[in-house]
Amino acid sequence: MKKNRLRLYLGLLGVTCLLALTTVLLSNGLLLKTRQLKVPVIKAENPAPVQAMAQRLSRAIQIETISNKIQLNPNFKSLEEVLKKSFPLLWQRLSPQIINQHGLLFHFPGKNPQEPIVLLLAHLDVVPVESPSAWKYQPFSGTITGGYVWGRGAIDDKQSALAILEAAESLLRQGQRPERSVYIALGYDEEIGGTQGAATLAKALKKQGVECGFSLDEGLAIVPGSMIGMKPPVALIGLSEKGYLSVELTATQAGGHASMPPKETAVGILAAALNRLQNKPFPARLGSTSREMFSWLAPEMTGVSKWALANLWLFEPLLLKQLSGKPATNALIRTTMAPTMLQGSPQENVLPAEAKAVLNLRLLPGDTQHTALNYLKQVIADPRVQIQARSGFSSEAAPESDSKSTDFALLHRTIRQVFPEVVVAPSLVLAGTDSRHYQSLCKNQYRFQPVYLTAEDLKRVHGSNERISIEAHAQAARFYLQLFKQL
Ligand SMILES: [Zn+2]
Repeated sequence: MKKNRLRLYLGLLGVTCLLALTTVLLSNGLLLKTRQLKVPVIKAENPAPVQAMAQRLSRAIQIETISNKIQLNPNFKSLEEVLKKSFPLLWQRLSPQIINQHGLLFHFPGKNPQEPIVLLLAHLDVVPVESPSAWKYQPFSGTITGGYVWGRGAIDDKQSALAILEAAESLLRQGQRPERSVYIALGYDEEIGGTQGAATLAKALKKQGVECGFSLDEGLAIVPGSMIGMKPPVALIGLSEKGYLSVELTATQAGGHASMPPKETAVGILAAALNRLQNKPFPARLGSTSREMFSWLAPEMTGVSKWALANLWLFEPLLLKQLSGKPATNALIRTTMAPTMLQGSPQENVLPAEAKAVLNLRLLPGDTQHTALNYLKQVIADPRVQIQARSGFSSEAAPESDSKSTDFALLHRTIRQVFPEVVVAPSLVLAGTDSRHYQSLCKNQYRFQPVYLTAEDLKRVHGSNERISIEAHAQAARFYLQLFKQL
């Protein structure tokens, strides 16, 4: 009898707890408030006829400005000439400064020079074409067909540069000026680190005493369907970008004839080290930018995703597990390492005295090059493997910019005016941009490319058949014009 009563009591307690938990989970979901600004719908103005803008982009694409051949490449000068012809007023009235051979710097003085300066960034170089035969149209033909402009740079990043210039030219044509002073800085070696272009452009700005309120650079675009549980398309504004570090692992062992190998070879030791790393990736965590992204997205979501994100106190481990499942979301929650290069013996019957591997790391904000190297040492735990940062380009993760600033709100508002159907949220950029070189000049740095892209389009960036729809390019130009008008 007593046992039955106890069972009943425990059963009731269980049901009560379950009910209380359900109530908490549901009410946390219901309490979520939208972070989206309500803005009146406007009819954003085209800076120029849509076809003419496509033509100008096409002409810029036709100039082969691959950044790995800058020194010997006269094409960067040709591109400058093409741009000069395309945007005559910009050259006449703003006379751009040429920085370190090919960097272009325009200064658009505002009506209120005491207001914080705005820096608009883009780059004019492109990556090489790996397999020209895979392209439907020649990669540097700038073919316009089927509603698209085709070619290398159509998305990354001549599109951004041209859209910014279209907006600025149109403003000059209308005899207008922005309230705040604007600098437009176009680099020419972003794809190989930006040390010649953006870095010297930033130096020149610093010399001229420029301090900017915010910079806007390429980064994230609007990719419908990219977020599980979200119906509307999402416009993500990058508050930060991951750091970059290449690390060389070297295992050393006596070389010799391959007919009498020792138990452990340099290759075996190196392989074991790589295997340990693969089994023990950097720990996953929700950084503050990702946490913020989810807090902006959750109120706009439906179903399970909404409740889960509203109750991260309970579901965070589950969310991290889910995000770990796909490379794109896994990269949001941890420092990643990709083994990219391997080297052993130069001959098949010779034991190598040294085996080398290169790991390419992308650092999550919060991790530094120093802490990452320590982590590798700790996991490999083998003194026979030397671990050192490779010489060449590296960068720490960018500091996280403020999503509560008036400038973030300005971008938010402009996006919702030009793309009223989208949801805006802050986020983290997984790749690197030229922005890092301007860090010390800017209070905040944002990264957003105002174009619609499909998941399939994203594969064309640095891949084959890169293209942008004529409408997407026009929309980007409308965005920049609207931004200029609201600065
Ligand atoms: Zn780019």
